[in-house]
Amino acid sequence: MVTAVLVAAFALSGAVSGVLAAVQRWGRLRSPLSGVNAFMAAGVAVMSLLSLVHLLVPRPSVVWPVASAEHLVSATVVAGVFCLCMTVADRSWRLSRRTALLLAVQPAAELVLAVSNPRHHLLYTGLAPGAEGVPALVPGPLFWACAAYVYLLLAVSAALVVRAWRLAPRGQRELYRWTMVAFAPPIAANVVGLSMPVRTMELTALGLGVTVLIAYGLLVRSLPQRQIQVPHRQVFNAITDAVVVIDRDQRILDFNPAAEAKMRRIMPGLPEDVFGQAFQYGIELDLREDAATEQSVTDLLGLGIEVQIRISPLRDGHGECVGWALVARNVTEINRRRREAEESARRLREQLDTIEALRADLAEQAVRDALTGLYNRRHLAEVLEREAARSAAEGTPLSLMIIDVDHFKRINDTCGHGGGDTVLVHLARLLTGSVRQGDTVARYGGEEFVLLMPGATEESAWRRAEELREQSGRSVIDVAGRPLAVTFSAGVAELVPGGTTEDLLRMADAALYEAKRLGRDRVERAMATPAERPVTGPSAGPAAGAAA
Ligand code: GH3
Ligand code: MG
Ligand code: MG
Repeated sequence: MVTAVLVAAFALSGAVSGVLAAVQRWGRLRSPLSGVNAFMAAGVAVMSLLSLVHLLVPRPSVVWPVASAEHLVSATVVAGVFCLCMTVADRSWRLSRRTALLLAVQPAAELVLAVSNPRHHLLYTGLAPGAEGVPALVPGPLFWACAAYVYLLLAVSAALVVRAWRLAPRGQRELYRWTMVAFAPPIAANVVGLSMPVRTMELTALGLGVTVLIAYGLLVRSLPQRQIQVPHRQVFNAITDAVVVIDRDQRILDFNPAAEAKMRRIMPGLPEDVFGQAFQYGIELDLREDAATEQSVTDLLGLGIEVQIRISPLRDGHGECVGWALVARNVTEINRRRREAEESARRLREQLDTIEALRADLAEQAVRDALTGLYNRRHLAEVLEREAARSAAEGTPLSLMIIDVDHFKRINDTCGHGGGDTVLVHLARLLTGSVRQGDTVARYGGEEFVLLMPGATEESAWRRAEELREQSGRSVIDVAGRPLAVTFSAGVAELVPGGTTEDLLRMADAALYEAKRLGRDRVERAMATPAERPVTGPSAGPAAGAAA
């Protein structure tokens, strides 16, 4: 009865494993797990077949080779389990030739021991009659050594998966959980087989049959996820910015090649395996669970490296923060160029300001008279045209006065040319001091000045001229050591409707001429008739002029 159940179980395990080996080896579902799964499944299929033969042909001459081969294959399958765990724990892991050779050492040694067993009996001491008339091999000391190695390899494999499980965000642990579950059936079968009072044979193949099924389930379940994850991983690896994923304890969970290269460059003493290490780069990370942050490091580890780090919280399926993704970019060069550009821009702005100041200065100089600082005749002509147009448009009056220093030649003669200049500057100040909003004072010629008064009638212009004339005559100035009261004559005119600026200047000039003719130190109006003219200043008698 037991034999019948075992025969059925081994046959089922062999058939299922064989099919799964074929499906994963040649089927269309491709994943890093396919190869290792197919290998394991093939091994389990062979193990099951050997167990079947062991059971059905219980002759000692058959049991010896079959049972030792069965044990040998099981050791090979455990090497497959190790590869499966490595692949699950690290998706980028691939079986290297070196690792394959190392893993083959133990099965090879066991094969040699099994073949040479009849000489030394160290692997198996002999055959024991088992239950149901099926003899079993009796383990020798080296059998237990091999078993210890196999269990050690299994323990390491399990530890790899447990560590990956522990470090993974909570939502991505399913793969690791199922891998750990896959360990249970063979261990259980092994323990049951070993603890049976009368050992008949290994039951491990049955347990491993279940493992192979679970492994296939892992492959199928992880496929949709994997098909996206493979390109994601490639993108991740291709990013030139350093990307590091850390957990809540700031241990490194993942990183891309750019990050590793950078970490190794700035920290030559970094251990070979950065995975799981504390993230320590002299940076106080600004870790926030609720939002992404941007952080600038101006002088990384005193190396003069400027880094810009974007820190984004990572969440599991329940929205719980499980760690952070750090994307760091070396901005030393960019910042240096930016600062250079800013510096050139600043210099350029300065130069532009200087040029603008010079230009304004030049423009100002172009409209100013060098000696007195008053506007020059050219500027006056411009302002006059503008004001005349406005006066005509708005119907407001526009008046001006022309002032001419009396007997200026005499001042030049007595006080020298420099003294004459002093008088001109003095008069310019007097005129500037009297200027009102909108008025324009200009040096019109040698010792002639014009005061343009928009909005003023001839009457009020005349009054202003009179005030100025009195003021000038009253003040005594020091010219080259001589006290001098400077007098001037002035002609005042108002723009007549339809009249031109030339008309205005001519009328004022005519009035000035009249003032000179009437004896100087007086103001004449263009329009006023001699009868209406008020008596102003010393209009009669000998010319007073500039009196010492
Ligand atoms: P009048 O009372 O008739 O105006 O007599 P005047 O001596 O002032 O006669 P006029 O207006 O003909 O002479 C102007 C003189 O002013 C001629 C010139 O030597 C002198 N002059 C012209 N420009 C300047 C100047 O910039 N500085 C000095 N010091 N003298 C100048
Ligand atoms: Mg003159
Ligand atoms: Mg004069």
